[in-house]
Amino acid sequence: MKNIMFIAPPAAGKGTQAELVEGKYDIPHISTGDILRNISKEDSELGNYIYETLASGKLVKDEITYQLIEDRLRQKDCKKGFIIDGFPRNIEQAYEYDNILKKLGYEIGNVIWINIDKKILEKRITGRRICENCKTIYNINDENSSPKIDSICDYCGGKLYQRSDDNLEAFQTRYAMYQEKTEPIIKHYKKKKVLFEINGDNSIENIFTEIEKIINK
Ligand code: AMP
Repeated sequence: MKNIMFIAPPAAGKGTQAELVEGKYDIPHISTGDILRNISKEDSELGNYIYETLASGKLVKDEITYQLIEDRLRQKDCKKGFIIDGFPRNIEQAYEYDNILKKLGYEIGNVIWINIDKKILEKRITGRRICENCKTIYNINDENSSPKIDSICDYCGGKLYQRSDDNLEAFQTRYAMYQEKTEPIIKHYKKKKVLFEINGDNSIENIFTEIEKIINK
């Protein structure tokens, strides 16, 4: 199957959709945000730098992400296809990603852009909660995706937590980063004719149906 890349503004639901694709098509979900959040827990200079950067909503230095991505893509489970989420995040990373793919003999695959209005995202961002155990994502501002019991995961009983960058202040920075740095890569992939646009103001199920259509083409 073709590799999948997700591009979307913060809180557009790309993590949720990537998990659904992983579950249905059995290919690994590689999220630079998740990898960086794990490193940010380490008590080291790198861990502290990443922790501070994530909390501010800014991007971590490109060089750090390149090594992480290349090491991850070299792992055996990526040979049958993979989902890349959160990388590339700017045009320099997109050029470097092209080089890494070439080096490893992989194709870009399908690039899925979840497009959604900023006003809707602002509402979503403060309500997002994530299960610390199984990573299921909820939104307490939306009755259709709230957990049944406050702060507890419906599926595994794990505790729900809020990301340190899921507040309005960090959101404004993350959104500005998206507009300034990430939107140019949309053009890059449009030119390569691998880009598919999806309306993100839709239910999780309907968005996933659109994604399946692209994958099954
Ligand atoms: P995400 O989970 O994709 O929303 O990413 C959360 C945060 O991780 C971002 O706001 C950045 O601080 C950092 N991050 C994730 N991916 C990248 C990347 N490709 N380049 C630089 N920083 C990144």
